[in-house]
Amino acid sequence: MKHFDKVNLGLFPTPLYRLPNLSRELGTNVWIKRDDLCGVALGGNKVRKLEYLLHEAREQGYDLVMTTGQAQSNHAMLTAACALRMGLDCILILKERGITARKGNQILNHLMGVEVRFMDTDSYDDIYAEMDRLAEEMGRKVYKIPCGGSNALGSLGYIDCMEEIARSGEHFDHLVCACGSGGTAAGCVLGAKIHLPDTHVMCSMVDNDPFDVIVPQLMREAAELLEADVEIPIPDLLDMCGPGYSIPSEEGNEAIAMMMRLEGIVLDTCYTGKAFAGLVKRAREGYYKPEDNVLFIHTGGAGGLFAQDWEK
Ligand SMILES: *Cc1c(COP(=O)(O)O)cnc(C)c1O
Repeated sequence: MKHFDKVNLGLFPTPLYRLPNLSRELGTNVWIKRDDLCGVALGGNKVRKLEYLLHEAREQGYDLVMTTGQAQSNHAMLTAACALRMGLDCILILKERGITARKGNQILNHLMGVEVRFMDTDSYDDIYAEMDRLAEEMGRKVYKIPCGGSNALGSLGYIDCMEEIARSGEHFDHLVCACGSGGTAAGCVLGAKIHLPDTHVMCSMVDNDPFDVIVPQLMREAAELLEADVEIPIPDLLDMCGPGYSIPSEEGNEAIAMMMRLEGIVLDTCYTGKAFAGLVKRAREGYYKPEDNVLFIHTGGAGGLFAQDWEK
């Protein structure tokens, strides 16, 4: 396979260990991969992607990056944090959707002094066009990072994560990750095919996009980049979106409380709570055997959790 260079931004390998209390509660061996502890801001899956994307930006001579997401985007906040560390300028053009007040990740964006512009649109294409317009107005070249850092290059970060897990020497029957823009799922499914061929990957969808098309497409593009001769697997996708993207769900909030109470680990309402609720759901349906090792990928997101009102 072809090798791609990346910039070192996170603390890898991240911790990997068994969760005894949850294992007892769910009747199978539940493990966790702590990508929330990867060392930048509040951690999270975007750092592995940004190691590739920002390396490419710098190699190609860009000194300005822009990205997007909703108001509480973990990806946007982490892109700013990583770009600033690398001495690159960063502008966030966010959808005026979700919690736009100076709460959660918006506090961190404010502390970094990164320029945040909101656009009242439901279309990311409008936002990418605005990035081009703005860069032209500034007379500069812009490296545009797509929503969630989910392109083929970004998803190589999760192929690496699967290699990291393989190198741990632990065996996993199942792996569960969140799927919000698709790059993590693509990296996990394709990466498992390459590095963990005996591990089944389930992706908990936290958004209503057509991931049955998006994830295989990203996997094909990533395999092409790597010049990897590998059959593209059909992803196992479970709909855990609930009332809508970034809107807390009852199952998700129960899963967050269970993880906090039993293991002292913080999940979030938008992604990891719903993703973990998918694992809980399957465990309760008897999908996992008592002797199975089931690995949950903790993709971060604590910043967004603290933007939420918890009235109930
Ligand atoms: C972005 C994000 C995800 C989803 O990853 P995608 O690659 O966008 O599908 C999961 N968890 C957290 C905390 C995230 O910020």
